[in-house]
Amino acid sequence: MLKIYSESEELDLEEPPLEPAGGIPKQWMPSWIRWPVRILILPIILLDLFAQKIARILIAPPYKKVGKCLKRGNCCHYILLPEAKGLLGKLFYIWNTQFLGFYRRYPEVHESEGKRVYVMGCRYLKKDGRCGHYHLRPVVCRKWPMIEYFGHPRIIKGCGFKAIPRE
Ligand code: SF4
Repeated sequence: MLKIYSESEELDLEEPPLEPAGGIPKQWMPSWIRWPVRILILPIILLDLFAQKIARILIAPPYKKVGKCLKRGNCCHYILLPEAKGLLGKLFYIWNTQFLGFYRRYPEVHESEGKRVYVMGCRYLKKDGRCGHYHLRPVVCRKWPMIEYFGHPRIIKGCGFKAIPRE
């Protein structure tokens, strides 16, 4: 799962996109199931991210991230979710839509980096660009902008972060 970005140049997403026709779809998963589950898995997420941080200290990627989040919300407008295939794919889709709160921006499937993806929006993005559930935000939001070991860093223009090569 990725947030949208451009490899050739940093992407500038100034204008917030319109909501889908008919508005943001409601979640059918009741909130009394959704929120306790998200709270229960939070320690696992934090532990996993901590382990990844240690790994990055031991073996550093070629770029390092500098700067800080300017809370513009641009990286929350377009989130790419792999097309749901098979049982696991469908469960992953339910997890992302019913638990994490993402919703389909467009009914059609798009293509990105040779993969079929849904372009998702997030119902928790506030009008002022801040996250409405910052402490429970998903892994993709905690890891963004992503500096990988291989490939171009994934950063959106104007987000406040930059990727600079390590010396
Ligand atoms: S959960 Fe928060 S950080 Fe993640 S996409 Fe939604 S608004 Fe943005």
